[in-house]
Amino acid sequence: MAKRVVIVVCDSLRQDLVRADIAPVLAALRLDGCAFHAFRSVFPSTTRTSSASMATGCLPATHGLLGNTMALDEGDGLVCRSVGDPDFRTRMRRATGGTLRVPTLAQRLAPHGGSIVMSNVSPGAAYVQDPDGWGHVYHRAGSFAPGLRPEPADRHLAIAIGADGDAAMTRRFCGEILRDRRPALAVLWLSEPDHTGHGEPLGSPAHRAAIGSADARVGDVLDAVAALEREGDDVLLVACSDHGMETTRRTIDATERLVAAGLKEGPDSSDVVVAPNGTAAVIYAAPDAADRAPALRRFLEQEDWVGGVYEGDALATIGLPVGGNVLMAVTTATDAAANAFGVAGHADIVRDPESARSYDGFGQHGGLGTNEQNPFLVVRGGGFARRRATDHPCSLIDIAPTVLRHLGLAADGMDGTALPLEPPDKDGDARCIASR
Ligand SMILES: [Zn+2]
Repeated sequence: MAKRVVIVVCDSLRQDLVRADIAPVLAALRLDGCAFHAFRSVFPSTTRTSSASMATGCLPATHGLLGNTMALDEGDGLVCRSVGDPDFRTRMRRATGGTLRVPTLAQRLAPHGGSIVMSNVSPGAAYVQDPDGWGHVYHRAGSFAPGLRPEPADRHLAIAIGADGDAAMTRRFCGEILRDRRPALAVLWLSEPDHTGHGEPLGSPAHRAAIGSADARVGDVLDAVAALEREGDDVLLVACSDHGMETTRRTIDATERLVAAGLKEGPDSSDVVVAPNGTAAVIYAAPDAADRAPALRRFLEQEDWVGGVYEGDALATIGLPVGGNVLMAVTTATDAAANAFGVAGHADIVRDPESARSYDGFGQHGGLGTNEQNPFLVVRGGGFARRRATDHPCSLIDIAPTVLRHLGLAADGMDGTALPLEPPDKDGDARCIASR
């Protein structure tokens, strides 16, 4: 009986929107499998960081990928770079001598049945699943076999971001990957509802349709998993999202404000560098600017768009490294008000100079807001309790050790812990009963 793990990620899908009227397949799966209601993202709650944490079982402080953007010193001082760019891993190697600082599932599984990732989110988020090429990664920006050898043109994933591309990718995932190639770990990372959520109001007809499309893709995967189980495979199925979303209230140019306050020399200076991460920012400082921390902190704490400021040892409490060139992390101010479609939660966001688009009134994420930190997780098979809803505290970093335990491999060196097969049932909890 071959043991396999299948992971399907519905990017940005909030747990409270996994409802029978919007996402019937997932709502039914949540009843049938083991649903972890207290599942959380990491910080920053961005897809690229989340992807690295899911692949390594480690917090950003350990794996070293600190956001959707991060400041790197490639020899000319600190510069903010997008982790989403296809060439980011090359830049990271140039600046730090490597990519992720800890092994990925792809590396650990290379001698044990291998891994295949199909992803329709940003290139950077796809490639941090396996930045050094131990397994297969398929992405529209380039598809790679072990050793980072480009896949031949006829095996490339030539799709567009969005629901149609997700559907084409899922067809191939279910047929070619699950039915025919059968790796130990197969990961399907859908672009919806994140793609639509960034450009439409949360809960709007377009956003609900995007959730519906992701839900249907999960249904496709469940059918393919059922076929494997009929043949005797012991499949651990993990269906989850990487984070949720808040509705963008205002967009703040944090860099401009720091320059105006005399805390940063100029918009492109490398003394103090703001790495925008949606509803959060990570602020880096060159060694000779680190003494600005007290003044910077006083300034930020008076700003009405700032929710929380983390500095020094407090960085460790949100999973960021202490003692490096990260000076401070900021989360933006949030409120619980509902939008026009009844979806709760707003937050200010930090403007990304590299992105011209406006997110105002649409979904964003990156911080520690209630809704962006409320992804969903359902696990089924692999000995997990069925029809179980639990408030067992867990997060993205617990998925990788759970994968390894199912495959009979050690999960040494991970920050996360394998999820309990029999977590306490929260039947008595009103919140869980309501969602059952
Ligand atoms: Zn997103």
